[in-house]
Amino acid sequence: MTIPEPRPDLALREGYHSAQVDVPVRLNTNESPLPPPPEWTERLAEEVRAVRFNRYPDRDALGLREALAGFHGVDAGQVFCANGSNEVLQSICLAYGGAGRSAAVFEPTYALHAHIAHLTGTAVVEGGRRDDFTLDPHQVADLLGAHRPAITFLCSPNNPTGLAEDRATVAAIVEGAPGLVVVDEAYGQFSDWSALDLVEEGRPLVVVRTFSKTWSMAAARLGYAVAPAPLVEALRRVALPYHLDSVKQAAGRLALEYAGEMEQRVAQVVRERERISAAMAAMAITVWPSQANFVLFRPERRKAAEVWEGLVERGVLVRDTSGWPGLAGCLRVTVGTPGENDAFLAALGELV
Ligand code: PMP
Repeated sequence: MTIPEPRPDLALREGYHSAQVDVPVRLNTNESPLPPPPEWTERLAEEVRAVRFNRYPDRDALGLREALAGFHGVDAGQVFCANGSNEVLQSICLAYGGAGRSAAVFEPTYALHAHIAHLTGTAVVEGGRRDDFTLDPHQVADLLGAHRPAITFLCSPNNPTGLAEDRATVAAIVEGAPGLVVVDEAYGQFSDWSALDLVEEGRPLVVVRTFSKTWSMAAARLGYAVAPAPLVEALRRVALPYHLDSVKQAAGRLALEYAGEMEQRVAQVVRERERISAAMAAMAITVWPSQANFVLFRPERRKAAEVWEGLVERGVLVRDTSGWPGLAGCLRVTVGTPGENDAFLAALGELV
């Protein structure tokens, strides 16, 4: 007897991981540094007590979808929810990608776009960016014209560069794209514009958001898409029955009642982001302007791997992005609490 080999195309793919090192200051995965409001936790506990655990959850997650629809001023039929925005992205690939179809990505960008496309048997076509990491609309149009991808992935603000895409560029790409355009707004709340108001019936645009960052709910695994109703219908067709458990549905629905607290957290993160960006720029470091809750930076006098290790030795974990396409020498730091950011800046100062 032998264990059979998995799909041959999987052998080429490594999973997606961020090194998990047990240190006091963890600034490597772009989560919120703060837990959710205590009142949210109390109310969720009450709702959990009321869940009938012997029964399947609401298959349509209607309460959650209606709450999200109200929050964004759209119809519940234009909202699709899944277990984290990664699962939303996977559903999009399952419904619109697959054998014989392709997805376009513009590197450097969120690695999971290409990874999930591959896993779903969708070919990946790779475009690039200008030296400043912005998209060149002509280059994008050429790539989309040449390959006619079924899905075009954009990420705004873009992980790991932190830059928000230009609104006019995104609108033009949606206008000219041969297939579906996905704008991944996992960090949308930190940015000064959103593609959400471009979503319209008849327009092949889907905006993807998550509860993992701004809403301090990474552990709950909840993300969603806002899109034209027929598109949401297609995504529901590829979702497994009862894929969203009752606790998660309640957690998301309740979170939306704490939007005020969420906005305060966003404001604090943005203030801290500007503070650490300015402090790093005053060292021998190149810093890219960020509209997200993280900052891409490149120490000019030390190797990225040395800085990463030096930071770990000082109890601070950041993301080494130096091996990603176009990011030689670069690291990415998530904005933490003021104290965590102080610890990061102090450690970095010693190293560079
Ligand atoms: N999109 C982007 C751009 C991200 O950076 C992340 C998290 N790293 C995700 C999606 C996935 O988030 P989640 O599955 O936790 O919603």
